[in-house]
Amino acid sequence: MKMKRLIGIMMLAVAGVVTVAAQQMPTIPVDPDVRIGKLDNGLTYYIRHNNWPENRAEFYIAQKVGSIQEDDNQRGLAHFLEHMAFNGSKHFKGNELLRWCESIGVKFGTDLNAYTSIDQTVYNISNVPTTRETIIDSCLMILWDWADGLLLEQEEIEKERGVIHEEWRLRSSAQQRMLERDLPKLYPGSKYGHRMPIGLMEIIDNFERPFLQAYYEKWYRPDNQGIIVVGDINVDQVEQKIKTMFGQIAKPGADAAKIEWVEVPDNADPIVVIDKDKEQRIDFVEVMVKHPAIPDSAKSSLEYLVTNYMKRVASGMLNSRFSEIVQQPDCPFLQASVNDGTYLLSKTKDALDLVVVPKEGKMNEALKAAYTELRRAAEFGFTATEYGRSKATTLSALDKEYSNKDKRYNSQFVNQYVQHFLANEPIPSIDDSYQMMKQLVPAIPLETINTIMKMMAPRNDSNLVVVNFNQEKEDANYPTEEGLLSAINEAKAAQLTAWVDNVKDEPLMTTLPTPGKIINEVKVDKFVTETTDGVKSGYSELTLSNGVKVVLKQTDLKKDQVLLTAEGWGGSSLYGLGDRANVALFSDVVEASGLGNFSHTELIKALAGKVASATLSMSTYRTNVNGSSTPKDVETMLQLAYLYMTANIKKDQKSVDQLMRTMEVQLKNRLLQPEAVFADSLNVTATSHNPRFRNLDVEDLKDVDYDRILRMAKERTANAAAFTFTIIGNYNDSTIRPLIEQYIASLPAQNMIPEKGSDVATDYTGKVVNDFKHKGETPKAIAVLNWYTKQLPYTLRNSIRAHMAGQVLQMVYLKEIREEASASYTVVAQASLNRSDFADEANLLAYCPMKPEKADTAIAIMRRAVQDMAAGKIDADMVKKVKEYMLKSHADQLKQNGYWQGRISVWRKWGLDFHTDYVKTVQAITPASICGFVREVLKAGNELEVVMLPAE
Ligand SMILES: [Zn+2]
Repeated sequence: MKMKRLIGIMMLAVAGVVTVAAQQMPTIPVDPDVRIGKLDNGLTYYIRHNNWPENRAEFYIAQKVGSIQEDDNQRGLAHFLEHMAFNGSKHFKGNELLRWCESIGVKFGTDLNAYTSIDQTVYNISNVPTTRETIIDSCLMILWDWADGLLLEQEEIEKERGVIHEEWRLRSSAQQRMLERDLPKLYPGSKYGHRMPIGLMEIIDNFERPFLQAYYEKWYRPDNQGIIVVGDINVDQVEQKIKTMFGQIAKPGADAAKIEWVEVPDNADPIVVIDKDKEQRIDFVEVMVKHPAIPDSAKSSLEYLVTNYMKRVASGMLNSRFSEIVQQPDCPFLQASVNDGTYLLSKTKDALDLVVVPKEGKMNEALKAAYTELRRAAEFGFTATEYGRSKATTLSALDKEYSNKDKRYNSQFVNQYVQHFLANEPIPSIDDSYQMMKQLVPAIPLETINTIMKMMAPRNDSNLVVVNFNQEKEDANYPTEEGLLSAINEAKAAQLTAWVDNVKDEPLMTTLPTPGKIINEVKVDKFVTETTDGVKSGYSELTLSNGVKVVLKQTDLKKDQVLLTAEGWGGSSLYGLGDRANVALFSDVVEASGLGNFSHTELIKALAGKVASATLSMSTYRTNVNGSSTPKDVETMLQLAYLYMTANIKKDQKSVDQLMRTMEVQLKNRLLQPEAVFADSLNVTATSHNPRFRNLDVEDLKDVDYDRILRMAKERTANAAAFTFTIIGNYNDSTIRPLIEQYIASLPAQNMIPEKGSDVATDYTGKVVNDFKHKGETPKAIAVLNWYTKQLPYTLRNSIRAHMAGQVLQMVYLKEIREEASASYTVVAQASLNRSDFADEANLLAYCPMKPEKADTAIAIMRRAVQDMAAGKIDADMVKKVKEYMLKSHADQLKQNGYWQGRISVWRKWGLDFHTDYVKTVQAITPASICGFVREVLKAGNELEVVMLPAE
């Protein structure tokens, strides 16, 4: 499209949203690189070629229907149907679909999945290796089966009832329970009040097949379906195949049911919902003001894009104010945020949405204070400095995205096309959208944003909805409708003054350190990668004048990314029990502090428009600085790292006090959740009740000593020579060395042996059992079994054997516990091999949240399958599938900077090359060798069982 003319059009668009009547706005052009078509029977398709990474593709089918289309006697069946898509279809009987996908390295739950929401159901087969034409055919066949070939067999329905019931149990939480029972009040007189996708368990457990069949036949029709294929495929060929295959599906008759949008009625008087649940951890209030949603038909207009952008800018600036305000000691709320989007579940209605988490017992004051800020923004608008930061942030994010345009993943395209099909969201090409936004962002005056803010903020009580969820406890004083509404009214009546934006206008570092020197550079011909231009290189190892080592590896795997890691000896093991709380909150407190001359908030403001970050953290035996940036902002990232490494953390008591208040609320009611009770028991049992590893409780917070944490940070970073720095990514090769000399070679370092810390691990030994009962609002059962040994050396081969054993076990569990016994919705098995400074440890873990009545069955299977493997019983076909998956994900890993960083680190630390022979080693592992791994782990005799069952 012609960009020159756009500026004028933009201004028209901007004018359009502030004046009321939108005239004919220009439309947003559709990306010409996606092939969109419609068959005679109404089916829509989107096909796009994309070869990053090569030999991969995504296959999606989106349905414009969901739970809102259910009749009263079908509640939950839209979602049930989605499950049945994996349990028998014309070309894939029973669970053959899962088994076939496994054979091409596509895992159920990871790459093969689906979701059902209120108005859409979307299925996907992702990360498909397109190495054979027949694979593409079979994936299209699966989409075809989903569209029109589900068998819905009685026997499979019976088995799936249990799985979905367990999915309901897993998702059952305080918030879910309250929302479900309050929905009718939030949607008076509307179907939305009774259509949570999970549905009613009495229907799930008892419905008769025809009710499911009826939904399928009525709604899964080509005119409601969109096929999306993106990846390393031939567009013409795939289009031809879609036409041939999907063209056979009959065209719906004229009497086919129409999708009718369910309207959400306006409310003249406020709707106030106050509810409580014993497991609700954090009280909050949410104020929503409903307004019309932009209809799908109007979304291709430029006005839609501009309006959305301006709303995002306005709420973003208000949210920044909220994070600044909460640091004031007398602020009655702990957190607040605002957003303008969909009203709860309904695409036909939008709402301005303000969420407020109060300090204890201050619900009304908190609501009043947060609402007052909303009024302040509406009345006085934002300042030029706030808006300047917002624009800078948007523009740098745009540049970052655009610079990586040749290396966008298939999933990025697919998600856009799914939303275009389902909701007519615009899909311009990245060139068009980049140029549009680059012109638009600087061209919109602040006054226009302020006008939008005024329009977003409500002036009267019409369409007002207030939701307040509380923890149910004895002697509690719950908020009242009158109290909440008068808080809002008082905020509306308050006399306000304009916001003052405090900024520190100086560079991150005013004086730069005296640079050191790179005294040696060795090129290492290992871990070789190739750039887009065909340049192959390994990595370099630099020795700096202060003794620090820097590993340097240039890649263009992500054109917008440079990663920094610095790993130093000595971590929390150097500190005693008295520092337990300080250690646990070390990185949070450091993060909440300021840096250099800047307070925490000043720092955030100073970094607006930069895409650079760095953190300082501590693990048991190491101290780490991790950072990332765009190529343009590498210097800023190195400055942040420099400031951390030179103990330039600035004490910011207000900000850390706010962190502590937040922690207090998070920790206080943690154990109201059954899952947290289980996690605590597991943790305590697995670490032999060592207080060092106990999870933090609210009582521990009084032990946090800010000054002590700052001293610890100083101690840990005192000697840069204890660190190895790694810089990897798309940095500029001609400027990186001077920057390293400036910011890393200049770090203070001592010629001394770094403190290493001592072995503090306290694993359980022998057979340990902790079975207990817990009473929750929804009866829940969870089991973990674990085995480990310290006798297996850390090698590439053993590490691969471990991963394979875990994955084979996971396949057995999926088949036996979920598919056959219907005892669980999700079940996990994993095995790994790790090395610390003191020991190598191989671990095998099985985890399963399950139906309480079937706990014995599930645990017996978990245990038996492991023993079977140890005894040499293993399905060779499963091993083959696991290899397929591992080789495929390995190929994907090669595209990640993080992978190379990890491989180089293992090589330099332990002298182990986990990369070069990876493929060969995977291929050579035999089924017997995997069994041997399990046998060796079990032989050590360390076995843990933690089981939680519901109390009566
Ligand atoms: Zn489900």
